[in-house]
Amino acid sequence: MTAAELMEMARESGFELVGIASARDVPESEHYLDWVSRGLAGEMKYLTDERAQKRKDVRSLMPSAKSVLVVGKLYNTAEPYSMAVNLEGRGWISRYAWTGDYHLTMKRSLTALAETVSASTGCDYKVCVDTAPLLERSLAKQAGLGWIGKNTCLINQGQGSWFFLGEILLSLELETGLAPPDRCGTCTRCVDACPTKAIVPVGKPGADRYELDSRLCISYFTIELRGPIPEQMRPEIGQHLFGCDICQDVCPWNRKAPVTADPDFQPKHVAPDLAGMAALSPEDFTQTFRDTPVERTRHRGFLRNVAVAMGNSGNKEFAAPLRLLAAHQDEVVREHAEWGLSRLA
Ligand code: SF4
Ligand code: SF4
Repeated sequence: MTAAELMEMARESGFELVGIASARDVPESEHYLDWVSRGLAGEMKYLTDERAQKRKDVRSLMPSAKSVLVVGKLYNTAEPYSMAVNLEGRGWISRYAWTGDYHLTMKRSLTALAETVSASTGCDYKVCVDTAPLLERSLAKQAGLGWIGKNTCLINQGQGSWFFLGEILLSLELETGLAPPDRCGTCTRCVDACPTKAIVPVGKPGADRYELDSRLCISYFTIELRGPIPEQMRPEIGQHLFGCDICQDVCPWNRKAPVTADPDFQPKHVAPDLAGMAALSPEDFTQTFRDTPVERTRHRGFLRNVAVAMGNSGNKEFAAPLRLLAAHQDEVVREHAEWGLSRLA
């Protein structure tokens, strides 16, 4: 099987971006390990524990791997970008989390593809979607899918950055793609628009390379952090309930980003009403967000985020639901609700 044949099969499986990288070198792994060692991953253990070293070499996951098929699945829809939406009374959920769990959908398609390839070539394979210790964006770049922008997202020149990434590690030797040039140029829109200034220069201020300080990022606070959100950061979180899209919304390469027609990726929870979210019981939360990425915060983390968003809304009508949250059984929810009340006052 040739690289071109495999890539055509991947396109026919519904993936908009397709390319092949070598399993040998993972450029950027040195920078990644340095980033981890400087503490910029915060409390995200899955990035900093023994899995960090594994990311240096794809073969730590599959010793026989020679090539990696990297795919991108478009998830953008026609809904407006967060900065164009009036969030009066509502909270923002990140675009990628509006629908069912992409891990399941992508894994299904990639596994079917890998089985077909293996049946015709006899190769070994391993399917990965997000959770495996791989430097996915580096591999996608090496496969020719795009460059890594200052906002740290993979950006495709023609199709923007609203993509989920997935991989099939293969024991086949295949022709690999070419990393495209970095087309951020002198643009710093994402750096300037980030409310918490989480996109920071690598090294000295003024350097032209940037990296993410997760410990300052709204996505980190609202999704990854389990305990209290640092108080000084709460006002900057605005009405974000789960994740943040601002550094992608402002990117010029997303101005004309295509939208998906795939029924599995149509939006369900775009900007939910904050009062309704504060009133969700644990059962309601599970039912509302079952099999969506929002489940990751768990109910208590979500209520913590609702309390911050209500406090930041400036809407005094939220004093009543915040008082109810201030009597919640969970200490973190209670404390954030008290904070929300004091901010409204
Ligand atoms: S996701 Fe939001 S907070 Fe995080 S870097 Fe991007 S703009 Fe900043
Ligand atoms: S907003 Fe500008 S600097 Fe940021 S990723 Fe997009 S092109 Fe690059």
